Amino acid sequence: MYLTQVLHQALQQDPTRPLTVYGDRTRTVAETVDRVSRLASALRELGVGPDDRVAMLGLNSDYYHDYLLAVPWADAVLNPVNYRWSPAEMCHSLAESGCRVLLVGEHFVDIVPQLRERCPDLATVVFYGDGDCPEGMVDGRRLVAESTPVPDARRGGDALFGIFYTGGTTGLPKGVMLSHQAVLVNALGTMATGEWGSHDGRMLHVAPMFHLADIFIWLTGMINRATHVFLASFTPAGIFDALERERINDVLLVPTMLQVMVDSPELAGRDLSSVRQVTYGTSPMSEALLAQAGAMFPNARFAQAYGMTELAPVATVLTPRDHEDPSLRRSAGRPAPHSEVRIVDPDDVEVPRGSVGEIVARGVHMMSGYWNRPEETAAALRGGWMHTGDAGYMDDRGYVFVVDRLKDMIISGGENVYSAEVEFALSRHPAVAACAVIGVPDAQWGERVHAVVVPAAGAAPTLAELQQFCRQQIAAYKLPRSLETTDALPVSGAGKVLKRVLRAQHWAAAGRQI
Ligand code: ATP
Ligand code: MG
Repeated sequence: MYLTQVLHQALQQDPTRPLTVYGDRTRTVAETVDRVSRLASALRELGVGPDDRVAMLGLNSDYYHDYLLAVPWADAVLNPVNYRWSPAEMCHSLAESGCRVLLVGEHFVDIVPQLRERCPDLATVVFYGDGDCPEGMVDGRRLVAESTPVPDARRGGDALFGIFYTGGTTGLPKGVMLSHQAVLVNALGTMATGEWGSHDGRMLHVAPMFHLADIFIWLTGMINRATHVFLASFTPAGIFDALERERINDVLLVPTMLQVMVDSPELAGRDLSSVRQVTYGTSPMSEALLAQAGAMFPNARFAQAYGMTELAPVATVLTPRDHEDPSLRRSAGRPAPHSEVRIVDPDDVEVPRGSVGEIVARGVHMMSGYWNRPEETAAALRGGWMHTGDAGYMDDRGYVFVVDRLKDMIISGGENVYSAEVEFALSRHPAVAACAVIGVPDAQWGERVHAVVVPAAGAAPTLAELQQFCRQQIAAYKLPRSLETTDALPVSGAGKVLKRVLRAQHWAAAGRQI
């Protein structure tokens, strides 16, 4: 089982089918195979050999897509770089993974001198894209036209497909080693939960492809014979235009994107009737937003995936059919067929159904380990289970409910308060555009529930008003005891709220590290 198998199958079955669309350019399966085999040949000529890491820095495009396949074709290991990192963070990752070759898309040409200066081990930088070519190594010219196609290495199984970095939500991002079989089994298992995506449909890629979530959905599209449409970056107008113009059927959207979309004046008068499946996940999503998203896409089924980079990435799925049951809309669904999921206590003993503990999972989709971090690998994979760091419970029918990240849970007066639950309650208030709930130091309670709120346009919610509103939904000990308003919440490259940043100022003032 190797990743490029999906491309060989497409070639065997329908070589003339359009496979990728970027702007006005469409490429068929056969054209893509030709390009991929030439790009792989060029990588080999550059000295890339088995198991070498090849870093890639670029916005979503058909070029990005082709390299995604060319790297394993050349028997190398893909190392996507998060383009929202600072140059210092990028160099940290490049040095850590020992990448000697970096592929750089046209939008990042300007930062290359900085990367070269800080990263002396970086031997080769290959520019690609539609823009200028500072080193004469532009995809479509030298790399493709002047190289002779090489056969696919066809090495897979437990060989590494890539090193993918975690979101950096709770700390420094960690490089996660994923094998070919981990990502393939993950895609197949997720699809086996029931109807998944549209066959022969059109899939939009707007979530950044350096993040595993979009690679996962891409792979399901490859298996479903989809045409992949790439959008370089996310803007409300840009995504609505693309959805309408390209008559998109399938899309992966994260809650922060959906929120921006439902709030956007750009939504008015749009025809989004072509969308058949919206996959969401990566962070908790409120029922209120799910309902708004449902209204935005009148013909779409919704599927939620819960997981993490370390699980390639899916552990549980809330299928479109599950969404019909209102009591399940807070759930992250049931374990996908490829994943064994349990809820355990701190001693790794399984807890009774309905009790909150840590969510753990195991299966072929588990990471091979964190790159160069043997101790963290051993801790995360202790006993053969991936410890997610998420708190949750499982009901009698096997539905998993994620209640919070263990690190975000607030212990106030000896009671556990799940920040996500308080956020869901707050986010229903019309004066709240976005919010985050954190624990801050408190002399009496140890930690106090503190709300950080981005007010809706023109609104100025007060603490008393929000408390009164939330009291109808959650117990009194969970109510926010203090309030801070802000223009915007700090978010990670993957669009998740960085609560550690919000917490830092409060805990530093109390003289404690978080
Ligand atoms: P880091 O590990 O560097 O702190 P991260 O955990 O955000 O970053 P990812 O692997 O991208 O990096 O995200 C996995 C996490 O995202 C999960 O552990 C979970 O907390 C959250 N998550 C993913 N899917 C869902 C979901 N459907 N519902 C709730 N939370 C989710
Ligand atoms: Mg994590």
